[in-house]
Amino acid sequence: MKTVLIGRTSEELAQITRGLNLQAYRTDQLMDWMYRQRVDDFEQMTNLPLDLRSQLDERFRVCDMKVLQHRTGEEGTEKFAFTLRDGEVVETVIMRYEHGVSLCLSTQVGCVMGCPFCATGAGGLLRNLSRPEILGQWFLAQRRLDETGERISHVVMMGMGEPLNNYEHSHKSLRLLHSEEGPGISYRRMTLSTVGITPRILQLAEEDMPITLAVSLHAPNDYLRDRLVPVNKKHPLSELIPACELYAEHSGRRVSFEYAMMKGVNDHPELARELGVLLRDMTCHINLIPFNPVPGVDYEPSPLEAVRKFRDVLSMVGLSVTIRRPLGLEIDAACGQLRRHLGAEDAVT
Ligand code: SAH
Ligand code: SF4
Repeated sequence: MKTVLIGRTSEELAQITRGLNLQAYRTDQLMDWMYRQRVDDFEQMTNLPLDLRSQLDERFRVCDMKVLQHRTGEEGTEKFAFTLRDGEVVETVIMRYEHGVSLCLSTQVGCVMGCPFCATGAGGLLRNLSRPEILGQWFLAQRRLDETGERISHVVMMGMGEPLNNYEHSHKSLRLLHSEEGPGISYRRMTLSTVGITPRILQLAEEDMPITLAVSLHAPNDYLRDRLVPVNKKHPLSELIPACELYAEHSGRRVSFEYAMMKGVNDHPELARELGVLLRDMTCHINLIPFNPVPGVDYEPSPLEAVRKFRDVLSMVGLSVTIRRPLGLEIDAACGQLRRHLGAEDAVT
């Protein structure tokens, strides 16, 4: 089976080129072709000698993921489904904003965390994605954008899976996406969304990677959060909130709290007051996410009136809060809608 090159740092690539008895500058050339020119066919790497191109082609692939499906939604949202080497499927979303183009990356096939309102978690965890598979999502999405001269400027790890449950590959992928030899995306334009695995949040705080941490809170007390986010039983709010405070201090970035508004479940104004008390001493921002319907899930979206009221209670206590625009609903690309198995209606590419 051919070795995949995307997702490797220059040191890792240098090991490979040394193994082939190539001169050091060949590593730089390959890095440039992959990360700057986004060329995936060795034949097109015109500054490499012809025999080297065919030698590479016999043993390596730049990226071996395939675009299974590509759908375009409203307001510049696009969703890709990629087939991995073992036939599994991951989804990746592009969102266009005034401030740039954001890529929403998946980090696992499925998820083990079992949040009852989420489509990704419904089938459990199949496996972690490797660094080549995470960078492969960037590579194929950026190649598509190259056709229109656009560049991915922001990265959010908010797709399928729990990035802190695949810590090594997730954080090293962000490092590579940041590096000058790679795509060179600023840490300030990266966000990692977690369900709240506190030991890993503390570890991330030590990494010297000032990315934004987004925490999927969804409830202001353990009683409700235990139900909506089962991992809370293991890492309750008394552990999570101090970890977020420490993260904010170390990174110098305010933490984002995600709160998906579910009708009659977590949208009562009294819960907003409780949330206000929980977060009032923190440098943070709260995102109220309209709940996205998921087949087979009983929760329903809160009416806009309830969402606004909830926001007003939080604003009144001086917290920074926004109601997030639902993007990608029409192509099942919104938060919590990404999943491993495409439905029958998705079968055409
Ligand atoms: N596992 C990570 C990142 C992936 S989930 C996490 O949980 O943070 C990305 C976001 O989508 C999380 O905030 C999650 O709580 C939210 N989400 C999941 N299902 C949703 C749904 N049906 N409607 C709205 N948001 C949802
Ligand atoms: Fe996993 Fe996040 Fe979905 Fe929870 S919301 S099941 S942590 S992907």
